[in-house]
Amino acid sequence: MLGCAVYGHDTWTDRVVIWNALAEGWGLSAEERHIVERQQGTCCAGCGRQPVASALVVEIP
Ligand SMILES: [Zn+2]
Repeated sequence: MLGCAVYGHDTWTDRVVIWNALAEGWGLSAEERHIVERQQGTCCAGCGRQPVASALVVEIP
């Protein structure tokens, strides 16, 4: 994965966003849980932005 496009940070961290009872309540498979954790839990260690937020940054000339 590329680094943070906002500030150039190069370290990503993973937060837990789906706890066990929630995964069971939603009936998530291990693969589905992994996808949600990856999509919603990964953020820049430097500024906290998620990869999608970082990728949407557009430079204005
Ligand atoms: Zn960052």
